[in-house]
Amino acid sequence: MAATGFTTTPSKSTYDVVIMGGAIMGSSTAWFLTDNPDFNGSVLVIERDPNYEFCSTAHTNSCIRQQFSTALNVQISQFGADFYTNLRARMGDDSRVPDLKIRSFGYLYLADTDCFANVLRDNLKVQQAAGAATRLLTADQISDAYPFYNVDDVVLGSINTVNEGYFDGVTMFDWWKRQARERGVEYVQGEVGAINRQGNRITGVTLKSGATVGCGQLVNATGPRAAITARMAGLDLPVEPRKRFTYIFAAAHPLDRDLPLTIDPSGVHVRENGGGTYMAGGHADVDPAVDPTDFAMDHGLWENHIWPAVATRIPQFDTVKVQREWVGHYAYNTLDQNAIMGPHPKVGNFLFLNGFSGHGLQQSPAMGRAMAEWLTHGGYRTLDMTPFHFDRIIAGQPILERAII
Ligand SMILES: Cc1cc2nc3c(=O)[nH]c(=O)nc-3n(C[C@H](O)[C@H](O)[C@H](O)COP(=O)(O)OP(=O)(O)OC[C@H]3O[C@@H](n4cnc5c(N)ncnc54)[C@H](O)[C@@H]3O)c2cc1C
Repeated sequence: MAATGFTTTPSKSTYDVVIMGGAIMGSSTAWFLTDNPDFNGSVLVIERDPNYEFCSTAHTNSCIRQQFSTALNVQISQFGADFYTNLRARMGDDSRVPDLKIRSFGYLYLADTDCFANVLRDNLKVQQAAGAATRLLTADQISDAYPFYNVDDVVLGSINTVNEGYFDGVTMFDWWKRQARERGVEYVQGEVGAINRQGNRITGVTLKSGATVGCGQLVNATGPRAAITARMAGLDLPVEPRKRFTYIFAAAHPLDRDLPLTIDPSGVHVRENGGGTYMAGGHADVDPAVDPTDFAMDHGLWENHIWPAVATRIPQFDTVKVQREWVGHYAYNTLDQNAIMGPHPKVGNFLFLNGFSGHGLQQSPAMGRAMAEWLTHGGYRTLDMTPFHFDRIIAGQPILERAII
């Protein structure tokens, strides 16, 4: 028995569904399967690190937004917000489940060119048509609402303060895992080292321990390592680990109101973190794929890139002290930074749940539900996720999502 209570050996020789990776996507799928009255199968989740120390989920900034440029991504986040704010009811009115709220300080996208201002105007139409409460703000309107910004270069801003801001995605993940296990999903500690394929069918997986387990359907929820696991089945997946840096800092002169998650034209973002502290994030200009074990900090990035951008935008942040910093990996989809989900077109019982780049946490309720629908019915019953299917990768046709962070 592993320290976390996970067993190290599967109790059965074969399962209807095997999920590789037991962080937020794997656990969401497992939970939604247990919640689907039409699913009566057995489920095994295989997780290499039950402490979840290095996964994307553990390094996230945990924010949710409605400001996407495709209606489907807006709808996915809307379901995420609804699911999260009704978590206890969704989990069978389990009184142990906390009552969770979104801290809706909003995302504020700032445009410093007419070209990007037009993108914000186009996005507004998509978002409002989907029911999001996005508003455009002129530089003067931004100054009225948030006097601390330097708006000298700002052409236009876009903000939504309804169901947009911080949410506690990791608590939602913990409850999915806990309730899924209580409902009979088996979690084992182990690393998938090989995938067993006969022709166009996956028959099972072999763990690095040597144990072999059969499966009816296999889900790839291995985050930034997704291409490595897909390769074990002879499949190429355009997903790679890319470093993203996060900093929590205290300000000598804190702001007198909540700081929206501000998307600066420099690519740096900064937001409210509570108690006079703020969270900033970004990445280096050179942004290569890294080894999945490489979490080395770039020590010059804060001084040379992140803090100058933050202090230029918010001059009140001229004196700050970094309290905490970390590196996390995006599972970066190199085609279009969007989800890759559903079955492989040839190997139909190999299912992708990958490539979420910087928005997987908020998408996890809708994606887990959709994956459970596919596993149960071979089709979608709520949101149609076929635009995210692997076929677009083969065709080289990206989803044109213009609000990527
Ligand atoms: C710095 C940062 C900030 C972010 N901010 C946001 C945000 O504000 N909002 C948002 O919505 N999203 C955000 N994201 C993205 C979000 O965190 C991810 O999309 C999401 O956590 C992905 O979850 P996952 O389960 O797919 O992957 P992971 O959390 O990486 O989990 C994959 C799991 O698979 C396991 N695994 C890998 N290989 C194997 C194997 N061979 N055998 C068994 N197990 C294996 C790993 O141990 C891991 O636990 C952010 C990400 C980062 C890095």
